[in-house]
Amino acid sequence: MQFIFRSTFFKVLTLFSVLVIIFTLNFSAIGQNPASSGLRKIVIDPGHGGSDPGTVGSHTREKDITLSISLKVGTLIKNNFSDVDLIYTRKDDRFVPLDERTRIANAEKADLFISIHCNANTSKSPYGAETYVLGLHRSEDNLDVAMRENAVIAYEEDYSSKYEGYDPKSTESFIIFNLMQNAYLDQSLKLANNVQTEIKAQARRYDRGVKQAGFLVLWKTSMPSILIEVGFLSNVREEAFLMSNEGQEQIASAIFKAFSEYKKLIDNHTSFTSIVKSEAVKEDSIKPDEEKTVVENKPDIVFKIQVKSSKKRIPITPKNFKNYKGVDEIKVDGTYKYMIGSKKSYSEIIELCKQLKKSFPGAFVVALKGDTIIPIDTALKELSL
Ligand SMILES: [Zn+2]
Repeated sequence: MQFIFRSTFFKVLTLFSVLVIIFTLNFSAIGQNPASSGLRKIVIDPGHGGSDPGTVGSHTREKDITLSISLKVGTLIKNNFSDVDLIYTRKDDRFVPLDERTRIANAEKADLFISIHCNANTSKSPYGAETYVLGLHRSEDNLDVAMRENAVIAYEEDYSSKYEGYDPKSTESFIIFNLMQNAYLDQSLKLANNVQTEIKAQARRYDRGVKQAGFLVLWKTSMPSILIEVGFLSNVREEAFLMSNEGQEQIASAIFKAFSEYKKLIDNHTSFTSIVKSEAVKEDSIKPDEEKTVVENKPDIVFKIQVKSSKKRIPITPKNFKNYKGVDEIKVDGTYKYMIGSKKSYSEIIELCKQLKKSFPGAFVVALKGDTIIPIDTALKELSL
């Protein structure tokens, strides 16, 4: 009984969270649409602060590095773009709860949210920069980074009710994130790719790539948002670089360059913007003619749901696939994989996956380019170009 109660409770909790997210995103897609008027307002979020030092290196603390780099990025933006309003979640060494950072960005109706952090590892060897967009964790490493950054809420009183039951130490809490969608994923991915390119080119840091994970600080932002881990304080050489004024200026200048490129794209209403706008409209109502526009602009990538796989061929009969029609069979390395559905939009396939999980609990999303299965990250990156 105890188990059944908990399970039902968790489902209700999860459903509630999802409804909140969908409401927040849809509301913003209708009422705000940052892409329509160009990029005019940015929130810069220096990670940690006050009683929360973040990760601690041999000689420095994350909260000091993130503040210093954030202020440098802000100064560059202020000096070069008179049409951009700049808002910081903190400008000095103070504690700001994660939900307050998000609240500031949403209340200001910002067009962009950039959170700046430093990485750490139990091993001293990892180094380099990586940029995250909100999404599903693709690996244990991504999950570790997200859980470390999210753990800050333990400094806040009553975090359990504020974050709808989220427990920073529980992997189970991340189930909530597995059901979420992000209306601004395409734009966030574009900026994240710019940041990684420039950090490699300008600051000559090792490029660890664009990644997805469930960060609480990005969770409810109603705008494109990224979280940059500028480098590892657990690596002695990288810590020295990040502590130096020159190192911080190089990182800040790389982020500024990435921002400038992204702003140009949004302001010029290029095809990228129109694709993103069509996608945003599709969140509310699917219109066939708009769908066609999107399809023509994007590479030949579709998302499907894998519902079964087997070394032995499974006859495609209604009985074997719970009366679902349109089952595709693909043979990969001697294994037969069975898929249902075909969507160009990642958020739509996530919705379909939720429904299919009721009949096929192990169902998951796959991306196909032609007949080949490709990593979801790669598909999303290609679709965002
Ligand atoms: Zn951090």
